[in-house]
Amino acid sequence: MAEVLVYVDHVDGAVRKPTLELLTLARRIGDPVAVHLGPGADEAAKTLGEYGAVKVLAAEAGEFADYLVVPKVDALQAAYDVVSPSAVLVPSSAEGKEIAARLAVRIGSGIITDAVDLEEGDEGPVATQSVFAAAFTTKSRVSKGTPVVTVKPNSTSPEAAPAAGAVEQLQVSFGEAATGTRIVSRTPRESTGRPELTEAAIVVSGGRGVNGAENFHIIEELADSLGAAVGASRAAVDAGWYPHSNQVGQTGKTVSPQLYVATGISGAIQHRAGMQTSKTIVAINKDAEAPIFDLVDYGIVGDLFEVVPKLTEEVKTRKG
Ligand SMILES: Cc1cc2nc3c(=O)[nH]c(=O)nc-3n(C[C@H](O)[C@H](O)[C@H](O)COP(=O)(O)OP(=O)(O)OC[C@H]3O[C@@H](n4cnc5c(N)ncnc54)[C@H](O)[C@@H]3O)c2cc1C
Repeated sequence: MAEVLVYVDHVDGAVRKPTLELLTLARRIGDPVAVHLGPGADEAAKTLGEYGAVKVLAAEAGEFADYLVVPKVDALQAAYDVVSPSAVLVPSSAEGKEIAARLAVRIGSGIITDAVDLEEGDEGPVATQSVFAAAFTTKSRVSKGTPVVTVKPNSTSPEAAPAAGAVEQLQVSFGEAATGTRIVSRTPRESTGRPELTEAAIVVSGGRGVNGAENFHIIEELADSLGAAVGASRAAVDAGWYPHSNQVGQTGKTVSPQLYVATGISGAIQHRAGMQTSKTIVAINKDAEAPIFDLVDYGIVGDLFEVVPKLTEEVKTRKG
């Protein structure tokens, strides 16, 4: 079977969920070969093998941490030259899309970004994209070169399928451009202790109805009682009540948790684009006509300032 390169997103060898989703999709079109750059390859290989990587091409060099994307593109291209894959899959993060685009230009291939599904077609892999705020679904195929596809988080559920996952060293020689942009400082974001938004099993989001940054603590308290991540509508983010990194929707993040709780959010199409594939959707809104209610499994018509604290108390009581 043809080999498919999968670019690994990880933190010191802890593989992030979107990569497990890529491995799951890659198995539909070939044998996944993971490309792991930076520290922790042996640790990562256990997880990568569990999710179907037949091998793990690993490279470690100071350049990966010290310079912006080009060293990683050099390494991915080295893997491409070694493997001659039938496709290259990369997570659809901002960095992933830049790496993928640069690789596609170098190898003279077509690229599809922000795919939400991938399947084998008669003439190669066919990618699904959700466009115009999810109003349309398109299917596309790369018609020139080796398909390079970036895939959005939560496009599929990761499924284990154990494979060898043996680590092989990848020889990388960096080009002149690799050291063109040096990272001069790094400041870690203060941890909230909550799960990452795109990876959380439960997300509680607040919108304009929360009516001020000072009120967002009630959303956070419900989230904490459920072990959830906190999301926000663009209206709440634009008003400066919550950081943009927490925005859910077309111009924010796409989430697909087991449970999505929308509080004080009307359900505009651009918000729905980022959460409508959630498994169970609950909305709390004082307007019974709010469009969000068209989408929900459970709806509560009421004032969130009354409902949310009661809900938090109830969750805490039931958890004992
Ligand atoms: C190109 C483009 C991209 C966009 N991208 C995004 C995006 O990524 N994400 C996004 O969210 N939006 C996005 N938007 C904006 C989107 O169109 C809406 O304006 C936005 O989602 C509205 O946010 P909201 O639901 O919080 O506010 P509103 O639409 O104002 O709704 C507030 C809701 O809160 C309810 N409410 C008020 N007070 C209470 C209370 N006390 N208790 C209970 N309910 C209450 C109201 O009944 C109302 O339904 C985008 C728009 C454009 C044009």
